[in-house]
This record gives sequence, C-alpha cells and structure tokens, in this order.
Amino acid sequence: MFIALCRSDAVQTKVMKSKYSSAAGTAYVTYENCIVPKKNLIGTENKGFQIIMSNFNHERWMITVVCIARARICTEEGAETSSGSIWIEKETFKWSMQRKVFGKPLVEQPVIREKLAQMFAGVETCTQMLYDITYNMIGMGSGGAEVGARIALLKYQTTRMNHMVADNAVQVLGGRGVTQTGMGRVVEVFSRMYKIPAVYGGSEEIMADLAVRTAIKGYPKQARL
Ligand SMILES: Cc1cc2nc3c(=O)[nH]c(=O)nc-3n(C[C@H](O)[C@H](O)[C@H](O)COP(=O)(O)OP(=O)(O)OC[C@H]3O[C@@H](n4cnc5c(N)ncnc54)[C@H](O)[C@@H]3O)c2cc1C
Repeated sequence: MFIALCRSDAVQTKVMKSKYSSAAGTAYVTYENCIVPKKNLIGTENKGFQIIMSNFNHERWMITVVCIARARICTEEGAETSSGSIWIEKETFKWSMQRKVFGKPLVEQPVIREKLAQMFAGVETCTQMLYDITYNMIGMGSGGAEVGARIALLKYQTTRMNHMVADNAVQVLGGRGVTQTGMGRVVEVFSRMYKIPAVYGGSEEIMADLAVRTAIKGYPKQARL
C-alpha cells in the first residue's frame, strides 16, 4: 500500500489530448494499491457527490455567461488582443452587410436575413433568461432546487442556441467561416469549440432532464385540465 498524496507509483497521470484548453490538464488518473490518510478526507466519507453538486449552480451560470458572450461576438463582432493591440473583427452581421454577391450585399438575400434573425433572437432570448435568473439569484441565493432547475434550463437553451449560431455563422461567412486565419477566424474557432460546454458542467440531455424532473416534482398531484 502507498499513501496517495501526489503523483507516485500509487497515483499516476497521463495527459489526454482534447480540443479543450491544454491548460485544463485533462488527464487519465490511475490509483494502484493506494490509501488516503484520514486527514486528507474532504468532508464526510461517501458524501463527495453532494460537495461536487454544491458547486454546479455557480459553474453552470458562469458557463452560460461565457457561451452567450461568445455567440454574441460571433453574431455581431469580436474583439481580440493580438501582439498587445486590439483588432476589431467583422463577423456575421457585419460580413453580410459588406460582402457583395451578384452585385448586391449578402444581407439583401431573404434567406440570409432569416439566419441573422434566428441568431439575434437566440442570443437575445438567452441573455434575457440569464438576466432574469441572475436577478433572482441576487435576491434568493444560488442554492435550491428551483434555481438549479432554471439554471439547467438556461444552460440547455444556451448550448442549443450556440449550435444554431455556429451553423448559421459558418454558412453566412462561407469559406471564411472555415479558415483558421483572416476575417472569419472568430467564427471558425467558435464552430470548432462550441460543443465542449454542451458536455461539461452537465450535458444537454441531463440539463433538460433535471429541469423537467424538477417541474414534475413540484406539480400538484390532483391537477387536471
Ligand atoms: C473538456 C472537458 C472537461 C471537463 N472537465 C470536467 C471537470 O473538471 N470536472 C467535472 O466534474 N466534469 C468535467 N467534464 C465533464 C465530464 O468529464 C463528462 O464528460 C460529463 O459528465 C459527461 O459524462 P460522459 O462524458 O461520461 O458521458 P456519458 O455519461 O457517457 O454520456 C454520453 C451521452 O449520453 C447522454 N446521457 C447520459 N446519461 C443520460 C440519461 N440518463 N438520459 C439521457 N441521456 C443521457 C449524455 O448527455 C451524453 O450526451 C469535462 C468534460 C469535458 C469534455
């Protein structure tokens, strides 16, 4: 038996490559014949799940803030720091205004305006849901089943919206939407990375399930149409 304090023969880690940030240190961890000293126990034995869950409302709220901001950048415009200076990127909306196809701006095509309308409505809807939940969290705190269910629903709606924004943005940007340098690079990165928050912090299916299960729990048993 070995004491599990840090990497040793008993505790080993192996880097797992993923398209998420390498700074996250995603790794395969193995424990072989190791024991954990009592003083290293966090909380109560077999109650670790509750500790993990107590973090999730805040984490999911933060994830939605980032996802909505990224979708807004993709939809409108992005700002990126490069070599110490700020470069303003022209993204989906600006691109559709400036790009001329067959002698007129792309935005004059109804099918393009429909894609932009979906993006505007998606970003604005999620932003308003986020404001509403944040206001309630300030007044009522961030714990509790109802807040948890509403945050889960917001995260679900936000990652679905990101899926649509990525799809529409690439279509409007065309070839620029899939090139890693140049005018469409913000859209290219977004379309490559947007699925990650649809899995971490609680996957889409689990978020949807949590929200509906909470609604079922609170539903009056005698209620009928
Ligand atoms: C880059 C990255 C970093 C992460 N970092 C962390 C971290 O630091 N801490 C942490 O706790 N987690 C983290 N996660 C999340 C965690 O690692 C898992 O990926 C996540 O919990 C989903 O589990 P899974 O990958 O095993 O998928 P599975 O559980 O195998 O699920 C596969 C699919 O089935 C669906 N599914 C599963 N169960 C059900 C069900 N009952 N009903 C309907 N559909 C279902 C899921 O939604 C998913 O789409 C991270 C994930 C990623 C991608």
